Amino acid sequence: MKVSPEIQNLVPYTPGKPISETKRQYGLTTVHKLASNENALGFSPKVADAVAKAMREINRYPDPACHDLIETASQVWKVPREMLAVGNGSNEVIDLLIRIYCEPGEAIMTFAGAFIAYELCARAARVKPFIVPHENDFRMNLQAMAKQLREQKDKNKIRLVFIANPNNPTGVYIPRAEVDKFLEEFGRDPNLLIVFDEAYTEFVRAEKNASLIADLQKYPSVVVLRTLSKVYGLAGLRIGFLMAQPSVIDLFHRVRNPFNVNELAQIAATVALKDQDFVQKVVQFTWKEMDLLQKELAAMSLPVIPSQTNFLFFDTLRDVKLVNEALLKRGVILRPVLNYGYPTWMRITVGTAEENQAAVKALKEVLQEVPPTRNKN
Ligand SMILES: *Cc1c(COP(=O)(O)O)cnc(C)c1O
Repeated sequence: MKVSPEIQNLVPYTPGKPISETKRQYGLTTVHKLASNENALGFSPKVADAVAKAMREINRYPDPACHDLIETASQVWKVPREMLAVGNGSNEVIDLLIRIYCEPGEAIMTFAGAFIAYELCARAARVKPFIVPHENDFRMNLQAMAKQLREQKDKNKIRLVFIANPNNPTGVYIPRAEVDKFLEEFGRDPNLLIVFDEAYTEFVRAEKNASLIADLQKYPSVVVLRTLSKVYGLAGLRIGFLMAQPSVIDLFHRVRNPFNVNELAQIAATVALKDQDFVQKVVQFTWKEMDLLQKELAAMSLPVIPSQTNFLFFDTLRDVKLVNEALLKRGVILRPVLNYGYPTWMRITVGTAEENQAAVKALKEVLQEVPPTRNKN
């Protein structure tokens, strides 16, 4: 049957390699996975009990309104209930925002090297991704984006702007002063939504008020996304939040599946959100381990991008396919970012102290084994 070229040409998302597959393929018993920015410390210990209890009720459909979860999220984040909705991970929210606001042939705008879901979801909806280049050091320049937006918005029918702050896979962060300047111009535009994906906001060390949650009223064109996949450690349950004007929330509810967030996820999320001590523990631990990891990478003379997340983006100075293969043989799964177009760069998630040490040891060996690619300059 005929399928449109946009669908035919879609390249599936490249996930981190699963542990089980790596064990099988390389005949290993121990494998360390630092490839998907998952939480090294797991999740709040309170979640397990709550989920075990909730198991007894899984013959019932979940609450389609996520009432208790939204109530809790509203208290924890100080966002009015009518400005909150829940998705099956923020990935679903990204997908639905594009379906709601963009007709086929219209466009979204984002940065080069931004989280790839924006582009993938756009293409799947036959929406064009308009990509603003990043700086040589991977920084996202909002003035460059503003210029592009002024010139291209009407011509290319740009409806949505996606900004991951901090960004994945590069780990870079746009300071609030630059964000505010950008939003003074575009934050009240009635024909545009600017989506700030705050998946890593809890890990930001650069400044205290990294999040735009408190400014949703001030900038009505801003949409904020939050996830429980990272600092809360619930990636496997799929919970993401949409925070926006009630009119946006209303449209989201019309388009989403009625039972998009399952019962166990709702229960786990409600408990996890209340355990802010756990969040603090994860953040402190991540900062400490990230500093150690960054020192080790620097000692190997590998360029590392300063990160405001729970991962580091670094240049292996080698063919990353060869580096990756040699790491996998040693039972270490990191993330090559070839799909983002960086042939020598890798991303490493901060793991437990033991995992990080194992990764450093393997990487040191691999750097001896794989020759550096010659600098083209
Ligand atoms: C990990 C990540 C998410 C989370 O996606 P979920 O679907 O909620 O698991 C969202 N945005 C960015 C930039 C991420 O890196």
